[in-house]
Amino acid sequence: MHELAITESVVDMVLDRTPGRQVACVHLKVGRLSGVVPDAMRFCFDLATSGTAIEGATLDIVEIPGRAHCRGCDSDFDLPDLILLCPCGSADVGVLSGRELEISSVDLVAQPCA
Ligand SMILES: [Zn+2]
Repeated sequence: MHELAITESVVDMVLDRTPGRQVACVHLKVGRLSGVVPDAMRFCFDLATSGTAIEGATLDIVEIPGRAHCRGCDSDFDLPDLILLCPCGSADVGVLSGRELEISSVDLVAQPCA
């Protein structure tokens, strides 16, 4: 289950960028072709944040569908997996989207005025 290691590195990055702040929600973009299972990440998130400064934060995952462009027939098509083959039969294909694994934003809990 490599999702735990990936989730831990996401949590580390968030902790690194938000020192001393309380995090309410972490928004992630996960491509369908990234090899990461969003449900497994959600499951790991509680584990990875447990005992850290962002414990209790929620994880919001936006899934990005796979899209590719075929240079053979010059058209875009949906890519359900990493088999780079156009319906026209050409394998001269470039992935346009679906490999994302990135933090799109982090919601911080507003700090009360001292
Ligand atoms: Zn094609």
